[in-house]
Amino acid sequence: MHDVGTALSAVRARIRELERRYRREPDSVRLLAVSKTKPPEAVRAAIAAGQSAFGENHLQDAMIKVEALDGHGASWHFIGAVQSNKTRPIAAHFDWVHGIEREKIAARLSAQRPAERGLLDVCIEVDVSGEETKSGVSPAEVEPLARVVRELPGLRLRGLMAIPRPATDFESQRIPFRLLREILDDLNAKGLGLDTLSMGMTGDLEAAVAEGATIVRIGTAIFGPR
Ligand SMILES: *Cc1c(COP(=O)(O)O)cnc(C)c1O
Repeated sequence: MHDVGTALSAVRARIRELERRYRREPDSVRLLAVSKTKPPEAVRAAIAAGQSAFGENHLQDAMIKVEALDGHGASWHFIGAVQSNKTRPIAAHFDWVHGIEREKIAARLSAQRPAERGLLDVCIEVDVSGEETKSGVSPAEVEPLARVVRELPGLRLRGLMAIPRPATDFESQRIPFRLLREILDDLNAKGLGLDTLSMGMTGDLEAAVAEGATIVRIGTAIFGPR
């Protein structure tokens, strides 16, 4: 049987090794364990092994786990596309939303965020592969959207997120991540004060750490194939 605790330890060790290799600060890359499609027992095993942040992309599937693990100290990150009829439960039950790409959705999340939950941390999703069909805003649209989102009272704009088109070789994987980092650096040079680059999955973890990821979203390497 797949052992979540053992797999988690291996992923953590790999991240620490990559931080050293690419001269990143120790512990500057945080691990988001992507538990989508996996049962509550898998999340429970990860919590027992010291993991607290979990990524989900489907509201109904996520809510089973959010409810089953209430009080276990898990934090929940929504990493899928946010539909406007799902903003209320997402604002109520999640700690982060990684895929902000429309002002209207951001405004709804802000308005529906329960005051007692504090600010909802969000990232703007950027289409760094230049595919019109892909989710995320184009690089040119990031700054105007960021300026709107950072003024919304229920949200805290933390940074940028991307899901590049899959590539197998390392140098090709680095290109879209480098672009995302450059967009973040540009926004920060303009005073936006962003601290998060959410990028890197099981297949492109090393390229993401090399280019400055601060949150890597790892599913398969922790929980096994879906
Ligand atoms: C599924 C998913 C991941 C994790 O992918 P793995 O290849 O299983 O590590 C990361 N980010 C997003 C947005 C996802 O949907």
